[in-house]
Amino acid sequence: MNNIKKTTYSFQSESKQLLHLMIHSLYSNKDIFLRELISNASDAIEKLNFQSISHPNLYEKDAKTKIQISINEKEKTIIISDNGIGMTNQEVIDNLGTIAKSGTKLFLESIEKIEKNNNQFVGKFGVGFYSAFIVSKKVSVSTRYAGMPIDQSTLWESLGEGEFSVSTIKKETRGTEICLYLKPEEEEFLQIWKIKSIISKYTDHINVPIEIQTFDEKNKVYTWEQINKATAIWTINKSNINNQQYKDFYKQITNEENEPLIWSHNQVEGKLEYISLLYIPMKSTWDLWNKENKNGLKLYIKKIYIMDNAEQFLPNYLRFVKGIIDSNDLPLNISRETLQENKISQQLKKSLTKKILQTLTKLANEDNEKYKIFWKEFGLVFKEGPAEDHENKNIILNLLRFSAISTESQEQTLSLQNYIQNMLPEQEKIYYITSDSYNSAYTSPHLELFKKKKIDVLLLSDRIDEWMMNYITEFQGKKFQSVSTTDSSINKLTEDNNNAINKKEKETEILLFIEKIKSILGDQVKDVKLTYKLTNTPAIVVTDANAMTTQMAKLFLAAGQSVNPIKYIFEINPNHKFINKIMNIKNENEIKDWIFLLFEEALLAEKGTLENPNQFINLVNKLLLIQNN
Ligand code: ADP
Ligand code: MG
Repeated sequence: MNNIKKTTYSFQSESKQLLHLMIHSLYSNKDIFLRELISNASDAIEKLNFQSISHPNLYEKDAKTKIQISINEKEKTIIISDNGIGMTNQEVIDNLGTIAKSGTKLFLESIEKIEKNNNQFVGKFGVGFYSAFIVSKKVSVSTRYAGMPIDQSTLWESLGEGEFSVSTIKKETRGTEICLYLKPEEEEFLQIWKIKSIISKYTDHINVPIEIQTFDEKNKVYTWEQINKATAIWTINKSNINNQQYKDFYKQITNEENEPLIWSHNQVEGKLEYISLLYIPMKSTWDLWNKENKNGLKLYIKKIYIMDNAEQFLPNYLRFVKGIIDSNDLPLNISRETLQENKISQQLKKSLTKKILQTLTKLANEDNEKYKIFWKEFGLVFKEGPAEDHENKNIILNLLRFSAISTESQEQTLSLQNYIQNMLPEQEKIYYITSDSYNSAYTSPHLELFKKKKIDVLLLSDRIDEWMMNYITEFQGKKFQSVSTTDSSINKLTEDNNNAINKKEKETEILLFIEKIKSILGDQVKDVKLTYKLTNTPAIVVTDANAMTTQMAKLFLAAGQSVNPIKYIFEINPNHKFINKIMNIKNENEIKDWIFLLFEEALLAEKGTLENPNQFINLVNKLLLIQNN
């Protein structure tokens, strides 16, 4: 042993942090170490299978891949071994000593936010291997890369406290063997039944056989017993799989604690041959908005694992979907880059998109409560759909949900179908308003007419809404119309209001007043008009039908782009007391001040902000003083 060269390394600082966390915080569900180590072993076997396609000699006369677990009660150790791809000396140092993955770094950055004992996060971030230290006081890993000479194997050892050592050893068998020296308080894991029950919980659907060593009392020999089914669940006939198995598989591939909301399993034959098993989760994950996070589809080709995050198979607006796609048609040597151009993968993308939309439509029709959960978790992402996917626009429109005057709640539950059904006979269009928040939308003066006439208006206050509405023009022949933009259909709705006022007496007087406003505001406005759609509000600004809307301008500004200031149409409510009052003022300067006040108020209501708040405040104060004199 003396001639073995042993080198000691210090863990990279991020690894140290993670180890510390493993050892001290993440107690509540210790079992997961086994899940992590088995999943690594299974990954290693899948990598070997994949590389053997082009280099069959990597199998070294031993093509039967498996994972084996043995327990040594005397030594108080658990050994987990696989005959997968193994690691080279350098890979051991890199993979087990540093955290190379950006996901893990993000994890560490957000660590303060994560409650103690919440170990849902382990594994999702590729911190899997270190979970061995949850139960072990010492871990040793011996490994040989497939095809390498026996004497070029590596032993890695660590107590998990800042350092690890690496030495070159001899290892006959290909692959990796991990030995866990259990902490005294973790000896319950030496019981075979315990290990078996954990394995059946987490890893039944691992594609590789997992064997555990047991002692045969009768014949007094040790034997290997296979404890998982080792069949890829998606290849089993649908009628032979129960819900629990589907749920377990979901948890296994996602490392989620939650059950999936719904799934769709399709075994497709014909021109395109593939199997897909697609899940819609119950909860969104924090990384849904992380640009690097593509989606959770695993690609298999003829049952051989090819890659994770196969983003080419689903559009972006469905990136919350998890699951697997197993194609019979794609060539095994396909790469991430060539997938994009590949005809078959493009067809698969179309089919999978259809499948998901069908699944959602079915859910919306059959289980409203579950659909609400879906919408709450993923509605924001789904709203990218109309812009991204023209082909399926109609199906997507049917799946959108909104809050509206009629829903009396911020929760988005109204479908366009419902909206159409409740339209008034005289109503021509689907009306909506976009705003910064539900409250500012709901209280907007633009809605006064609609509330009075009991015409429903969609209240859109998510950031994406304004952008989405650019891609939605009509639904079932009905056009969409913003209520803050001038429009003849809205004017029509005001006709009875219009008649209600005593026209003759007032008309000339009010028209003169409008002309006066025009001359005072000059080119600050596009136009000044009368409106009959207001009840509580004296005046309002609206955008011209072809102009940029207020919300759109805000979006551009927030994105750092410059936009020309919007020129509004200033609309005056002739039935409002305030207007009458101003019309009766004699002093020209005073009238001017009142009109500016009116205009600024309307701008404030529309935009939520003013260009020059101080000027506005001074004006208000000045007019208040005049009042009191
Ligand atoms: P992840 O599995 O998410 O990559 P882990 O911390 O579980 O992260 O493992 C780190 C890396 O160590 C793996 O990516 C792999 O390269 C290597 N590794 C771990 N276990 C094995 C194994 N049994 N055989 C080969 N490589 C392994
Ligand atoms: Mg892992």
